Amino acid sequence: MYDYLIVGAGLFGSVFAYEANKRGKRCLVIDKRDHIAGNIYTEDVGDIQVHRYGAHIFHTSNKEIWDYVNQFATFNHYINSPVAVYKEELYNLPFNMNTFSKMWGVHTPKEAKAKIQSQIDQLNISTPKNLEEQALSLVGTDVYEKLIKGYTEKQWGRDCTELPAFIIKRLPLRFTFDNNYFNDPYQGIPKGGYTAIIEKMLEGIEVQTSTDYFELIKEKPALAKKIVFTGMIDEYFAYQLGELQYRSLRFETEDLPEENYQGNAVVNYTQREIPYTRIIEHKHFDFGKQDHTVITREYPSEWEKGSEPYYPINDERNNTLYEKYHALAQKEQNVIFGGRLGQYRYYDMDKVIAAALEAVKEEFSEDHVFG
Ligand SMILES: Cc1cc2nc3c(=O)[nH]c(=O)nc-3n(C[C@H](O)[C@H](O)[C@H](O)COP(=O)(O)OP(=O)(O)OC[C@H]3O[C@@H](n4cnc5c(N)ncnc54)[C@H](O)[C@@H]3O)c2cc1C
Repeated sequence: MYDYLIVGAGLFGSVFAYEANKRGKRCLVIDKRDHIAGNIYTEDVGDIQVHRYGAHIFHTSNKEIWDYVNQFATFNHYINSPVAVYKEELYNLPFNMNTFSKMWGVHTPKEAKAKIQSQIDQLNISTPKNLEEQALSLVGTDVYEKLIKGYTEKQWGRDCTELPAFIIKRLPLRFTFDNNYFNDPYQGIPKGGYTAIIEKMLEGIEVQTSTDYFELIKEKPALAKKIVFTGMIDEYFAYQLGELQYRSLRFETEDLPEENYQGNAVVNYTQREIPYTRIIEHKHFDFGKQDHTVITREYPSEWEKGSEPYYPINDERNNTLYEKYHALAQKEQNVIFGGRLGQYRYYDMDKVIAAALEAVKEEFSEDHVFG
């Protein structure tokens, strides 16, 4: 009998497995996919690390998490600076002085602020009724029309006027010439890819891929004393209270016989008529000099049972339903629910590591897990 059966070889499951193994516990890690690393899986395609499930940039403000992850990899100095394409125009992201000077020919923060404010004032929106009004009241017409509207409509598969205002709480505007997308002090891409991090975490631990929990546990119900479950919480409970909803993604990857396709790792396409939201050119995450390149187009799509659930839709209906599943989960003895699917929330990688370490601290009744 194992001490822990860990369902999901993603970041949450792997951090938990690494820490439990370090404490002398016998673990079995399973994943229904045919590989480890979950959504952070990267694979080598002609010496280029390809992010199979979408672009992943590690960034954090938490020094302890940064030190923790650096045990397993050396990070490069990649800084995420996406570019947006709208019709024939190219803009820097996030919205900053480079964006504003290109859009309006302004030179100073004062001019940019005045331009935005005059557009907001003309709209006269007091209480935004939907996402469109919310965005317009925060950034004015031009930034909304060119850089937010089409992209958001593709992401959610419906018009911004039909989306609730709460989806966009803030739209940070930066009045400096700074294209660094993230504000966090620590950022980079692991040299050799993310899969190598997970391989290191799982060193010396039994792992079975292409293994579904529900089938395995039917055959061997007494396999482990405890379960760490990072799959979908509603699936665990056989959808007895109803299904939680997600947005899904479809990726189309091409290996091209050219050196440099778009000159940047991430290029967003903000026009609604173009069906993909972005093109990732993987080699630029790693300053690659290979004589070929690999690009991936990312298409948002409706989620249906059986397709990959990428983004939880945290609206009122789903959050209420999740709370009911969470209440059931709390009664489930000897099962720890974790990760983006087990907790039905969007988690960046640093937050998933922090959550897994928190679960370890609780499980082993320790005051701290670092050091
Ligand atoms: C498109 C996209 C881009 C992202 N970009 C970033 C980024 O730039 N920076 C950042 O910090 N974060 C990013 N993230 C978030 C990041 O992917 C997550 O933080 C992280 O992958 C979550 O790890 P996890 O272990 O919770 O889930 P997962 O990686 O999904 O692991 C769960 C695993 O459980 C397995 N599983 C599920 N059910 C079963 C079952 N019944 N039996 C066996 N196995 C099962 C699944 O196959 C999966 O491998 C991004 C996410 C997406 C979707």
